[in-house]
Amino acid sequence: MNDQRVYNFSAGPSMLPLSALERAGAEITNYRGSGMSVMEMSHRSKVFLQIFEETQSKLRRIMGVPEGYQILFLQTGASGQFSMIPLNLIGKTGRADYAVTGNFSNLAYQEAQKYGQIHLAASSADRDHSYIPRQDQLELDPRASYFYYCANNTIYGTEWDYVPETGDVPLVCDMSSNILSAPVDVSRYGILYAGAQKNMAPAGLTVVIIRKELAGHELPYTPLMMNYQTMIDKDSMYNTPPCWCIYMLGLTLDWVEEQGGIPEMARRKQLRSSMLYDTLDSSRLFHCHAEKGSRSGMNVTFRTDSPELDAKFAQEATDAGFVNLKGHRKVGGMRASIYNAMPVEGVEKLCDFIKKFDRNN
Ligand SMILES: *Cc1c(COP(=O)(O)O)cnc(C)c1O
Repeated sequence: MNDQRVYNFSAGPSMLPLSALERAGAEITNYRGSGMSVMEMSHRSKVFLQIFEETQSKLRRIMGVPEGYQILFLQTGASGQFSMIPLNLIGKTGRADYAVTGNFSNLAYQEAQKYGQIHLAASSADRDHSYIPRQDQLELDPRASYFYYCANNTIYGTEWDYVPETGDVPLVCDMSSNILSAPVDVSRYGILYAGAQKNMAPAGLTVVIIRKELAGHELPYTPLMMNYQTMIDKDSMYNTPPCWCIYMLGLTLDWVEEQGGIPEMARRKQLRSSMLYDTLDSSRLFHCHAEKGSRSGMNVTFRTDSPELDAKFAQEATDAGFVNLKGHRKVGGMRASIYNAMPVEGVEKLCDFIKKFDRNN
């Protein structure tokens, strides 16, 4: 690793693969002989259209996106999907099911209430979102237009280890913080989406993968720019797409493929997270927020019994080159976000640091 770079445990925007950054750096003033940067070229130019199409097809290949699904590159932010989903899908029956397992699914649940009858199909609020409800705890409404959940709870550090079974009701899933980290059977979903800034690219791009037949039934007052059908018809180019972020996503996907694809990302995820949880579980001082069986492989939330000691830990960690470990204010303590681009070695060194801190305090 480039020696001035720190191990950055930020929840997002977060680390990107070094090779992607270096490639972007090398191409920053003159993209492959075009005489200009990707930031400076028309989104309708031949050279950019090639970047766009290649990025789309790389993602399709790497995630195994089946025919009948469109990959959209939007600018809404993941939070924009909280509105776009009900606007486009709820018209079918006027009802939808939501599983609230953390901050972002709760925001999506609140927002959806503007547009229809929203049913709380499950909630983990009773134990401060420290667990994921099991299939038999989901209260499913067979008349729901869709079932919504968030696959990985970035703030609380929990992750669904199963895909909910909802019969004929389409699944809609926020995968912002775990997309590309493990194999996903896209055919089980109506829509899956992710803000790019956790595991894919810089902030500004939202990737939506949608079963095309679900589009075209939007509520009549749906803003043009929030209509999936508009974006499908124009292949995400109704207006200027987030060109630079799409290019960066392409570079990240090249890295994913060179490393061995999603199976290798999943292997490293398992390695990093089990190492970190084992270290925390065998410490005297630290405990994890998430219950065993629900723990996230991407965001590890932990703390000591003392806020002062937590602050001391975060400070000493920063001084030692492990940055952005302070937890989100909703949970307190610490959070280590260990996305795809975090080297296994970064987590090994963090574990050594945790062990040392545990002995000395
Ligand atoms: C970060 C995050 C969001 C919010 O993303 P924005 O692009 O900032 O709107 C939503 N859902 C999850 C799971 C996230 O991690």
